[in-house]
Amino acid sequence: MLLKISTTYAPATDLGYLLHKHPARIQSFGLSFGQAHVFYPEARGETCTAALLLDVDPVGLVRRPHGQFEENFALAQYVSDRPYVASSFLSVAIARVFSSALSGKCKDRPQLAETEIPLKVELSILPCRGGEILLRRLFEPLGYTVTAESHALNAQFPDWGQSRYFTVTLENTCRLSELLTHLYVLIPVLDDEKHYWVGDAEIEKLLKHGNDWLAAHPEQESIVHRYLKHQRHLTREALAQLREEDAQENSDTIQAQEEAQVEERIGLNEIRLASVTEALKQSSAKRVLDLGCGEGKLLRKLLAEKQFEEIVGMDVSHRALRIAQERLHYDRLPEKLKERLRLFQGSLGYRDKRLAGYDAAAIVEVIEHLDLARLATFERVLFEFACPRTVVLTTPNIEYNVQFENLKAGNFRHKDHRFEWTRDEFQAWATRITKRFGYTVVFHPIGPEDENVGPPTQMAVFTRKIDE
Ligand code: SAH
Repeated sequence: MLLKISTTYAPATDLGYLLHKHPARIQSFGLSFGQAHVFYPEARGETCTAALLLDVDPVGLVRRPHGQFEENFALAQYVSDRPYVASSFLSVAIARVFSSALSGKCKDRPQLAETEIPLKVELSILPCRGGEILLRRLFEPLGYTVTAESHALNAQFPDWGQSRYFTVTLENTCRLSELLTHLYVLIPVLDDEKHYWVGDAEIEKLLKHGNDWLAAHPEQESIVHRYLKHQRHLTREALAQLREEDAQENSDTIQAQEEAQVEERIGLNEIRLASVTEALKQSSAKRVLDLGCGEGKLLRKLLAEKQFEEIVGMDVSHRALRIAQERLHYDRLPEKLKERLRLFQGSLGYRDKRLAGYDAAAIVEVIEHLDLARLATFERVLFEFACPRTVVLTTPNIEYNVQFENLKAGNFRHKDHRFEWTRDEFQAWATRITKRFGYTVVFHPIGPEDENVGPPTQMAVFTRKIDE
């Protein structure tokens, strides 16, 4: 099985830097299912081609522990296409052999890793369950020009028809890391078979590598379904996460404009962040979480306070996290600050071990973005599983909306808000939380308080009762 990647970007031999593999060398890598070799059939200034030759060991495959190798029919052990075709083995090899290129890192040519360059991929044999139509449906929306040569089932008997094997060329102008993530995800999708057990970790891989493109892909459902080996509960979970992210991403920009516009007259955001920071300081927390950190405004404030030794920002949106990283100049932060800050993608809709063991968590203007139906899960994720000693949570007070001249009556402050609560509703909810999860709560108004409708933002500070 041979994968070739070429570029005509000048100087083309810079491909060697991007792939982290020197054009003059042949390198071999041992994998659990065989060997991968990287070499350059051509390396000139105007064109450069890197090749990944996958040498899958057919005997080794048969001897793998039971369950790791799918057997579709009795002779599968003896008659297998696996050594000869592009499959999930190739994805594993890409992740292993081109790991830094896959994640978009390039020490020597960082700028180039960010640049869209002309790239061409040749796959010697790609099995396409779903045929050329699916092949095109998967790659063309991502900007590829697809050329596919189909192979007869048996050249001597043309009336046996065509096989599902194709020799494929894909051309696009994009970043190398994008191209590799597309191959990583879509090759096993086309092959529609995986050589390993598919579980929750696969959702994470899929979302990580599908990060920038999957949420908007027209074939999203079939990609997810096939990638997760048709396991319905995994597919459902992955699609839910993608949709959450997509809805969020679409509304991020609107949010920035809309909500800020509505609230800007009173400089509410600033007041809110200052109040949250103060509440966290008062709690004497050292290790804090900012859940739904968005573009990182609170993180910046927290970093300025030495009291906070470890600060973690989590958001469901990769895009928001990228912006946060840029705004905080994360890559250029002095080492001392950098080691106090960590950002990662995650959803408050799912129990997450990474959130356990912190002193405090801030959830600022986030819960109103969650579907009411998922609020109960969020409550458990935060108060039962993560269960920090202090939780500082803010949400709009809907009663105050009449005070905003530029907000139409009956509208929420932002299109993506699934609900906004009155003071009574918020306090009833928070009180229920205290009873159910063993916390106490104190409420604070944020922003100018109106006699009749109260403050624009409401904040609850929860404290866990029993401090284990
Ligand atoms: N806390 C930030 C951002 C508020 S906007 C601030 O005050 O500026 C709401 C944020 O919640 C968005 O960044 C959105 O991506 C995030 N979010 C929405 N649903 C989420 C979920 N289920 N898990 C984690 N973050 C979520």
